[in-house]
Amino acid sequence: MTQSGTRAERTRMPFARDVVRELAITHGACIRPVQLRRTDLHTGQVEQVLVPCGHTLALVCPSCAERKKALRAAQCREGWHLDREPVITPDPPDDEQLMWVELRSDAQKRRDAARAAGRDTAEDDQLIGDLDEQITRSGVRGKVLPNQAARRHRSTRRRQDVPDLPRRKVTARTIGKTYTAPDGKTFRPSMFITLTCPSYGRVGPDGTPTGPDSYDYRQAARDALHFAALFDRFIQNLRRFLGYDVQYFAAVEPQRRLAPHIHIAIRGTLSRTELRQVLAATYHQVWWPPADQIRHDDAHLPVWHDASGRYLDPATGEFLPTWDEALDAIGGEEEPLHVARFGPRFDAQGVLAGSRDASKCIGYLVKYLTKHVADCHGAQTGAQHAHAERLADALRYEPCSPTCANWLRYGVTPKNPHPGLRPGRCPGKAHRREYLGYAGRRVLISRKWSGKTLADHRADRKAWLLATLGIPAADASRYIWQAVTPGDPDHMPPAQRLLHLVADRQRWHAALTQARARASGQPDTGHPATGRAA
Ligand SMILES: [Zn+2]
Ligand SMILES: [Zn+2]
Repeated sequence: MTQSGTRAERTRMPFARDVVRELAITHGACIRPVQLRRTDLHTGQVEQVLVPCGHTLALVCPSCAERKKALRAAQCREGWHLDREPVITPDPPDDEQLMWVELRSDAQKRRDAARAAGRDTAEDDQLIGDLDEQITRSGVRGKVLPNQAARRHRSTRRRQDVPDLPRRKVTARTIGKTYTAPDGKTFRPSMFITLTCPSYGRVGPDGTPTGPDSYDYRQAARDALHFAALFDRFIQNLRRFLGYDVQYFAAVEPQRRLAPHIHIAIRGTLSRTELRQVLAATYHQVWWPPADQIRHDDAHLPVWHDASGRYLDPATGEFLPTWDEALDAIGGEEEPLHVARFGPRFDAQGVLAGSRDASKCIGYLVKYLTKHVADCHGAQTGAQHAHAERLADALRYEPCSPTCANWLRYGVTPKNPHPGLRPGRCPGKAHRREYLGYAGRRVLISRKWSGKTLADHRADRKAWLLATLGIPAADASRYIWQAVTPGDPDHMPPAQRLLHLVADRQRWHAALTQARARASGQPDTGHPATGRAA
């Protein structure tokens, strides 16, 4: 008999596939590995290689998310207290990058010819857009052809209530100042800063408003939508104020009240008074058409007019203003749609290289990176659910960008319009519940932080492992790689992949332990390391 015991006892027994999954997680193995076939061109030998999925969310793959988080922490540590300027030389373009740019040149030539002959360029423009995306994805910085859209002249006059900030010329230096103690010891402190949004109404310890009706959800929604732009402003002001190219490693997270805040590791220091000065002068103005008055609710939506490619007012049959017309209509005396600022409460501390404080701060910085914004403080109580619900409501009809379908609600044609747009149904990430209005990157790192990308840090780690295990680094040109698909005879079902990975990790872990023991001079008790380090 293979099954024994009562039915109740059997239902308590864990499923075999869950046990394998748990075991894989315990061993730090990816739970959704990709299977690749590797052929050695010298020997003709074919090997199956299981590559980690590399997802950043623990919800999807705990092991990969944890590994990414550890890499981010390493990246943060490496740049924070640099005492010499990082050397940044761009790599030469690789074959793939060259291929995409060649295709892009052909497309440009075809488009320009079509335009000169007065033909429609829509298809060519679409292709060019796709190719530009591929070029970016292949790891090329910047655009092949800079945007030629006419720059709009917006009011840049300073707001009356913002104090002027002293400005210095920004030098190329990226490292902070060195201080010398009376005993001759030198140190180079850095900063850990936390910036928050302003208040939208009083909240209790559980993060929910004490007066939900007076809590300013619209302001909260708009601040979240423009949080990334505000942070850019802050860094720009900080650099002008301090006079050097300040570098940062920052992480955006929600607070319990569901407003974003940002933890920032900064190379170099400034005083609290100086920081307060920079914050007081930092604001981001959103010069968009007014969006406070509903002109077309869901029962009276504007209608698409195919011949003109515009939307019409269903009652009068008149065209809605285009995006550019609506922008031009913003008069010189008008106020911006929104002015985003940081709240008056901030946190700032000096941190020394290698100190306990430094490790603690790095812990804060990467703590929530494996979670969706909305999952960092999941709603537990009825009040918390209601609060999240009201914020989601405020975000539903708030325009997230110039192309947002919600503009129709306020009587404006969105930028680049097309048929089928419906307010409240914009697919923009910012409207989705899990983003709480902030659709930007969770980790923001300046270009000269450590001078290394995450891929470089991963390569460092792999090189270290191979060296520790005594495995020579493989020559990349020696292999060809192919994806294995379910129809292939050598395809491994997911459960089988996990079993292989668990076995690999165990063998590999044992080898690493021995290598470490050997390195520290203890007797060698086992067999030499074999196998692959994936
Ligand atoms: Zn994974
Ligand atoms: Zn939108």
